Amino acid sequence: MSRVRSATLYRVAFARARLVCSLRQTFPKLKLREIGEIAGITRERTRQVLHDQGLPTKALYNGSYACIDCGKKAKNKNGRCRACHHKAYYITLTCLGCERTFDRLLSIDKRDRKGNPLKKDFCGNKCQGKWLSANHGFGKHPEHRQFQKKEVKV
Ligand SMILES: [Zn+2]
Ligand SMILES: [Zn+2]
Repeated sequence: MSRVRSATLYRVAFARARLVCSLRQTFPKLKLREIGEIAGITRERTRQVLHDQGLPTKALYNGSYACIDCGKKAKNKNGRCRACHHKAYYITLTCLGCERTFDRLLSIDKRDRKGNPLKKDFCGNKCQGKWLSANHGFGKHPEHRQFQKKEVKV
């Protein structure tokens, strides 16, 4: 290979690398294969060039979708970002028993409250049982203890 030819090839490669980099910066959603087709090189060579230049090799797939609530990056066209999705689908409750806060799916909250409006305010059956016994059971009405079933000893 003559020196002139190798210098030309080097210049071509340099121009290609510059093209690849500018394509990535201008169109962040282009795939490696598509950039390679435009620049006339393979997908793998495109990846190598971008990697050498410290540019993202992965296409920004959902870059143009904005959260419908806050405008941040979202996964789907009419979707929400992670934080807003959580806000929209979960409700934060404070357990009446242990007073800890916990999140619960809104749909499940709605379903559970249908017959029992209190049910939603407990983190679990354990807390619900404790709270009910203290506020509605023998804890609240100790005079009813006389009706309490005695444990049968075997
Ligand atoms: Zn959001
Ligand atoms: Zn609790």
